[in-house]
Amino acid sequence: MRRSVLSLLAIALASPAFAQAYPSKPITLIVPFAAGGPTDLMARIVGERMGKELGQQFIIDNVTGAAGTIAMGKLARSAPDGYTIGIGHLGTNVVNGLIYKKLNYDLLDDLVPIARLPSNPLLVVTSNQVPAKDLKELVAYLKANADKISGGTAGMGSGSHIGVMAFHAATGTNYQLVPYRGTGPAVQDLIANQIQIMIDQSSNSLPHVRAGKLKVYAVTAKERPAAAPDVPTTAEAGYPGIEVAIWHGLWAPKGTPPEIIAKLNAAAVAALKDPEIRRKLEDLGQDIPTPEQMQPAAFDAYQRGEFDKWRPIIEKANVKVE
Ligand code: ASP
Repeated sequence: MRRSVLSLLAIALASPAFAQAYPSKPITLIVPFAAGGPTDLMARIVGERMGKELGQQFIIDNVTGAAGTIAMGKLARSAPDGYTIGIGHLGTNVVNGLIYKKLNYDLLDDLVPIARLPSNPLLVVTSNQVPAKDLKELVAYLKANADKISGGTAGMGSGSHIGVMAFHAATGTNYQLVPYRGTGPAVQDLIANQIQIMIDQSSNSLPHVRAGKLKVYAVTAKERPAAAPDVPTTAEAGYPGIEVAIWHGLWAPKGTPPEIIAKLNAAAVAALKDPEIRRKLEDLGQDIPTPEQMQPAAFDAYQRGEFDKWRPIIEKANVKVE
């Protein structure tokens, strides 16, 4: 009896009629980092617009700690009914799967992709107290003052940590790292010179660079972004091989009905077609994916490709969290 009621319920939940009624209440969007940081900002900009599209509010739930692994665990265990979804990025949804050896969920098997979201490069930024004038001088300064310098990250595996791994490897520097619950709070400490350096998403630090509160040395991209045409690429500044873009995406727990995924995807596509949203994101250095790249199947293939790309890099760097 109980079993048949449950299976009827499962059929009802998966039926097109249920999907038509969806969403009938607010949707919780789990954000794996602190408020005020780049992932939170992306969630708020895109989530608010998706909410308008779907006629329901998106409620942001910042589940911080351990570079997003706690948040993704919570998402994987949430009811697959479309009322809890999560935002993540290259760090939380690829690199963490390669460096955290004891995750109690699988990023590919326990979550389903909804849509790929924009991608931004990292900026090499320091507090205004650091005297270097360009990247070469900065590297010399970091080497000469190794014991006095600390850098901020959002934990091992976060975007800012991926940036540090690439930066240390290419420049031969090795300063100590302070983990934060997100780069929103970290960048405030950088402005205050509590820490001296970050390799930080452009969407987080570019506004502070423009306001004269931080110094910028290079961008980890092949080409200078339109939003920061005066900032040299890392290769132009003398250090090739530090090209990292932090792309974002939306996921749902496995078992979420495909009709609901399709509705959420359509709302995300509509959000990123909105000229006002595009302007806001592009001004922060974000590259906006095409509607085709945003489709769940295309995004799934992209995410799997990123696992293949990063697996040998992480193995070579031998970065593990047991
Ligand atoms: N995206 C993270 C945040 O929102 C930071 C990071 O991955 O470095 O804080």
